[in-house]
Amino acid sequence: MYHDYEHLIRHLLTYVECAACGQGFQLADIQVLGHENQFWLIMTECAHCANQAIILALLEIEQVSSPAPELSPAEQAQFRHQPPISPDDLREIHTHLQSANDLASLLSD
Ligand SMILES: [Zn+2]
Repeated sequence: MYHDYEHLIRHLLTYVECAACGQGFQLADIQVLGHENQFWLIMTECAHCANQAIILALLEIEQVSSPAPELSPAEQAQFRHQPPISPDDLREIHTHLQSANDLASLLSD
């Protein structure tokens, strides 16, 4: 299961462009450092300009038969109609993480 998600995350990040030079990432440029539940820490290194970046990604897998029990019925109704994570969402997270000076400032936003 872990490796399936790792493959999915790496594949999704091939839709992200390097923030420094704008070139797209290849699978070889993307390394999953680890994960804690649905939070994944990924390092990218651009093959074109060697820019390195750390990406924090939230991977939520929809449970069709059994919704996550920690969500209230109102939250389930709210999130059921949210669009899936898009490449634009990942770019926004990537840009936000690159602008953060340290973890404390990142978490205070
Ligand atoms: Zn680059």
